[in-house]
Amino acid sequence: MTHTAFLDHLRQIVGANHVLTDGDLTAWEQDWRRRSRGKALAVVRPGCTQEVADVVRACAAQRISIVPQGGNTGLSVGSTPDESGTQLVLSLTRMNSVRHIDHDNLTMTVDAGCILQSLQETADREGLLFPLSLAAEGSCTIGGNLGTNAGGTQVVRYGNTRELCLGLEVVTAQGEIWDGLKGLRKDNTGYDLRDLFIGSEGTLGVITGATMKLYPKPAAQLTAWAAVPSMNAAVRLLGMAHKQLGAGLTGFEVMGQFALGFVARHMPQLRIPFAGMEDAPYCVLLENSDSESEQHARERFERLLELALEDGCVLDAVVAESLAQAHELWHVRESIPLAQAEEGPNIKHDISIAASRIPEYVEYTDALLRRELPGVRIVNFGHLGDGNLHYNVQAPSEGDPHAFMREHEGRVNHLVYESVARFGGSFSAEHGVGALKVDKLQKYQSPVALSMMRAIKSALDPQGIMNPGCILPVSG
Ligand code: FAD
Repeated sequence: MTHTAFLDHLRQIVGANHVLTDGDLTAWEQDWRRRSRGKALAVVRPGCTQEVADVVRACAAQRISIVPQGGNTGLSVGSTPDESGTQLVLSLTRMNSVRHIDHDNLTMTVDAGCILQSLQETADREGLLFPLSLAAEGSCTIGGNLGTNAGGTQVVRYGNTRELCLGLEVVTAQGEIWDGLKGLRKDNTGYDLRDLFIGSEGTLGVITGATMKLYPKPAAQLTAWAAVPSMNAAVRLLGMAHKQLGAGLTGFEVMGQFALGFVARHMPQLRIPFAGMEDAPYCVLLENSDSESEQHARERFERLLELALEDGCVLDAVVAESLAQAHELWHVRESIPLAQAEEGPNIKHDISIAASRIPEYVEYTDALLRRELPGVRIVNFGHLGDGNLHYNVQAPSEGDPHAFMREHEGRVNHLVYESVARFGGSFSAEHGVGALKVDKLQKYQSPVALSMMRAIKSALDPQGIMNPGCILPVSG
């Protein structure tokens, strides 16, 4: 089939308006951090599952590669095409309906292209909670969240996206539709296909629908901000918070003073508690969700903070007085990546380590980087409750930051990831592998695990048309 005939065939399936080949395709071809720009054969925007299946079948027949895409907010360059001009971007954003809400089963079944924030709002309108929450929630889609097994700020209580999903609808690499949307909490009937597709970053099939868990809305949600004397103290506070708040602990974020300093410099309108407090190298943001009442939540929170002050793991703390104040505190935390970008080029790491080993890891790696690359600025923050740090490195304030990146990025990555391996951690906690970290997976994953991954890939996608070069290198 000629190129033109193939595109005409796609137009017949999804409608001429939804096959984009001309004009400015930057939004689909460039990754969120603007570090990579590809060229798509076409951007195709199906409107329903059957259209996805028909498009995939057409691509399979011609051996055309497909890059599934949701909100294109991924941070591992997994949702954009390569530079060859031969890959098709399959954008799911037109598929954005909530199909069904089951109050008794506490589930909602949705199209994969639904924006995360719209799902949170839908649940809220029904008097329920959909707890997945991340700073990109206004743009990312539930299909992308499932594709990357996204984490976010509520994992300490509700788990990653995987833990929130009870079923999937998937279009396979052959263009067949698998309906696994039963919404069962127990279903031990063979291999767990759902879990295979979650976190597979579009390399095994296209997620077109999902049944997600809902929760009762907490009666009250309180946020506190605490200054702590060390990372060790932050981890001690985490243990105390688990013990005192139990399932009420719904958020536990850590922020280094360096990271907060960038927010203060670039977003002076934001108020940062304990900014520059000299003996507090870190601050912690805690969230307590209570099923009884605001008074009960406040009493438990205050008791925790009293104990922590006595213990010395907290130097000072404030509890937000209103929802608006709580939002302001979260806004400071969520502004760190933007403030870092304003400061200049930087090297991002999304690592996880057992919480108990994090203080040792940070001490060891901080010293290593400062010794090997004098002047580097370590911007450390993240979801400490999940053992997940965004352990980022900014060029020294003196000199040309772009030259630093060119000369030292590889070395910085090497030092950080070797250190992560030394402490038994993961080089990608929540952002996935994408095309960006394919070499890291080859290096740090065991040969046995890699061989099983290759077997899964070739069994489900024998032609290798699903997002080639993402997670695993292109074979042959
Ligand atoms: P995309 O970027 O479009 O795609 C991501 C991957 O999923 C690609 O490999 C793609 O091929 C695949 N994919 C997309 N849709 C489908 C589908 N329907 N079927 C199969 N595969 C599919 N991530 C976190 O985990 N935690 C955070 O706290 C967090 N914070 C962020 C903050 C900001 C400011 C930004 C920009 C990003 C953040 N991210 C975070 C990363 C990103 O938002 C998540 O990875 C998100 O899950 C991606 O969703 P998306 O719809 O944008 O997916």
